[in-house]
Amino acid sequence: MKEGIHPEFKECKVTCACGNTFTVLSEKPEMRVDVCSECHPFFTGTQKFSNRGGRVEKFKNKYGL
Ligand SMILES: [Zn+2]
Repeated sequence: MKEGIHPEFKECKVTCACGNTFTVLSEKPEMRVDVCSECHPFFTGTQKFSNRGGRVEKFKNKYGL
């Protein structure tokens, strides 16, 4: 393996839309993300994204629940 071919990975400060910040190894010094492990429903167990758009509400109205 020759030196200098691979990009240099350094600590990258990631700022999430939820306000959480953490660092990863990346070529970029800074990054912004919409979800992180702190606010993603897969990690938090909450279902805040599934309620968006009111799909459940429409279903309930349609069937009179
Ligand atoms: Zn987040």
